[in-house]
Amino acid sequence: MARLVMKFGGTSVANVERIRNVARHVKREVDAGADVAVVVSAMSGKTNELVGWCREAAPLHDAREYDAVVASGEQVTSGLLAIVLQDMGIQARSWQGWQIPILTSDAHGSARILGIEGGEIVKRFAERKEVAVVAGFQGVHKETGRISTLGRGGSDTSAVALAAAIGADRCDIYTDVDGVYTTDPRVVPKARRLDRIAFEEMLEMASLGAKVLQVRSVEVAMVHKVPTFVRSSFDDPENPQPGTLICAEEDIMEAQIVTGIAFTRDEAQITLRRIADKPGVAAAIFVPLADANINVDMIIQVVSDDTTTTDMTFTVPTSDYERAMTILEGARETIGYASVAGATDVVKVSAIGIGMRSHAGVAARAFKALADKGVNIRAITTSEIKFSVLIDAAYTELAVRTLHSLYGLDKA
Ligand code: ASP
Ligand code: MG
Repeated sequence: MARLVMKFGGTSVANVERIRNVARHVKREVDAGADVAVVVSAMSGKTNELVGWCREAAPLHDAREYDAVVASGEQVTSGLLAIVLQDMGIQARSWQGWQIPILTSDAHGSARILGIEGGEIVKRFAERKEVAVVAGFQGVHKETGRISTLGRGGSDTSAVALAAAIGADRCDIYTDVDGVYTTDPRVVPKARRLDRIAFEEMLEMASLGAKVLQVRSVEVAMVHKVPTFVRSSFDDPENPQPGTLICAEEDIMEAQIVTGIAFTRDEAQITLRRIADKPGVAAAIFVPLADANINVDMIIQVVSDDTTTTDMTFTVPTSDYERAMTILEGARETIGYASVAGATDVVKVSAIGIGMRSHAGVAARAFKALADKGVNIRAITTSEIKFSVLIDAAYTELAVRTLHSLYGLDKA
């Protein structure tokens, strides 16, 4: 008998009427004989409101109390869905993170799941065919027993981790789009919905800007090999579409060289000019940034022709840009640079595909195509299954569209 986890996002549970629609999807699977655990987000906008209240109460606040507040959105929707299911004649019970429990680290606000005790839920599947309605996004800190949350978008991770813990056959992530697209359809109307995408590709897509899933949920799905569908909750509950399957590479029949194009505006560029070209200088720059928990992404070092000084360009998250600049200005003496400059009106565009492993010249074609359109590239990084270019934000659409058609991703 099939065992599955169904996860519904904020827009899918935005009000009681929509929760009733969610219940119809659940009923379909229950009627088909499946054992079902449902994971719900808070009503759309709710978590933002709760976060806002915390900030209003005090700009700097105790992260444990933040978690006590923001976890409440999911408590409401899990209870409401259980009520609606019961009203439809389906056995259902809500579960908060601490009741299961979903044990987490102590990183309040962005805790990691350490373990899930799924035994009671599974027992109730067998004993009374009871649907478990689980509050997403939240858990409980293993040692203190305090409520924790998993970071924004964390109910995706709750769902996949629960699926792994109870040995579910698959995890269905219901959202407001009908699957994973080759790129953002709002930017490229010719974007196509993918039938399948490999875990590794999805991980890169999510890390490089695709907003459809929380990055950590894809990591968990990959590690535990949980087949995960992204599909629409707005489909007719009687006749739903399958959506996009995220699965192991071996299960993809016709691999493309490039599967998708992602982009993110969340990156800023910093350039240090005329730093000494000698051992230790990279450490002098990047150790203080790492100590301040600033994630450096692309790095380019240029050897200048006088060979005594060089330039260093790198990117940091836009939200850390000001902090990084302050740290670098403070470390001017120890690093020893002539000047520092930065830009925040930049975008990182990436092409992702497992086919890149076995094909040469994939990125080179992109550089040529972008040059033909007059798009200047500020920085480049490549790895096994992706490459990224940093360009002026004004060229985002042009660059994304150019790469999308270059690699044959446009729908007919
Ligand atoms: N409600 C939480 C958020 O808005 C968790 C989630 O929706 O995944 O981030
Ligand atoms: Mg989400």
